[in-house]
Formats: sequence, C-alpha cells, structure tokens
Amino acid sequence: MIEPVILISALEHYEYCERQCALIHGDGVWADNAHTVRGTRAHRRVDSGKHRRERGVLTLRSIPLWSEHLGLSGRADAVEIRDGDIFPVEHKSGTRHGRAADLQVCAQAMCLEEMLQVEIPSGFVWYGGPRRREIVVLDAHLRSAVVDVVTAIRDQMISGKLPAAPNDSRCDQCQLEPHCLPHVTATADRIARRTAEELMV
Ligand code: SF4
Repeated sequence: MIEPVILISALEHYEYCERQCALIHGDGVWADNAHTVRGTRAHRRVDSGKHRRERGVLTLRSIPLWSEHLGLSGRADAVEIRDGDIFPVEHKSGTRHGRAADLQVCAQAMCLEEMLQVEIPSGFVWYGGPRRREIVVLDAHLRSAVVDVVTAIRDQMISGKLPAAPNDSRCDQCQLEPHCLPHVTATADRIARRTAEELMV
C-alpha cells in the first residue's frame, strides 16, 4: 500500500481538531470564514514569492518543501538566510494558539534539513495580531512531537474514519461548522455509543 503524503498544513488542522483535519485532508472539504479570509489577505505578500535582501539577510518566500523520510510536503512562508544559517519563518495573521505554529515551523525545518543536508536549530513564527516574532527552538521534544502528529494524521487517513465532533468552543470559530454540523453529529455519536453499550449488557 502506498502511504499518503501529509501536507504540513495538516499539522495545524489536526492540532485544532482531529475531525477538522479528517474533513479537509481526507474528505477534501473546505470553506472560508472571516478568520480564513483574513489569513489569506495577510499572506498575500508572503505568497507573492518575491525574494528580498535587507541588512545582510536574504529572505526567500513561498519555498516548496518535502521530506521523503517523514512523507511530508508543503511550502515555507519564508526562509531566511543569515551568515550562512537557515531559518524557516511561519506567518500567522492572528495570535498564538497552542503549539500548532511551532509544529509547523519545526516540520518545515526538518524538510529543509533533509533537502539541503544542513542542521537548523531554530526557526521563527511571526504573529500578525501582536505584530511580534517569536523564536522557536527546534529541540528533540518538538521534533518528536512532529513525528507523532504526522504518524497520527497518516493513521487517521489510512483508517478513513471520521473522528467524533468535540462540539465545544472550537466549533464557534471553525470554518467547517456548516459542513460538520457538530451539534447534530455529536448527538448522533452519543446515541450510537449508548446503544452499543446497552446491546453489550
Ligand atoms: S465544527 Fe467543531 S467538530 Fe467540526 S471540524 Fe470544526 S472544530 Fe471540529
């Protein structure tokens, strides 16, 4: 069996909600809401692919990435080269949400390391909300978390199963809410579970 290649963007979706990841990357469902449209607008300059050299730093934009070892592919918003050292930079239009952006920038670095045979000890995430750039130390713990999440996503895709809807505060912000119908599906899942339990008694 050919194992599916995982998109780096799937790590963020999986971190947010396993069901969202399955809907987008397994079932091909996509929809925009105010949050995603704002993110797309903020990414326009990054996605333009225009490179820049400023104060000794070369910034390459929209760089394709892959790792045969991890079965990953995607695109870095930006890759900076300063004094011969390489730093992936992930751009987020809002504020920090857990470790999702850290995982993405680490996955980008792991791809670059394999592609270029270099070591990349750190990267950056730019958060447009506070207009702040944070350094991300790419230590063994974070790298191991990337491998775990990639493996979980691949297992999820191979199984073809759609995880149950958590039906919590995440759904209020989720662009897939009209397609996912978390209230309905969570109730249906609860009934199915209770019926299965009763049948086993
Ligand atoms: S609506 Fe809720 S359960 Fe459905 S994909 Fe979005 S976050 Fe997940």
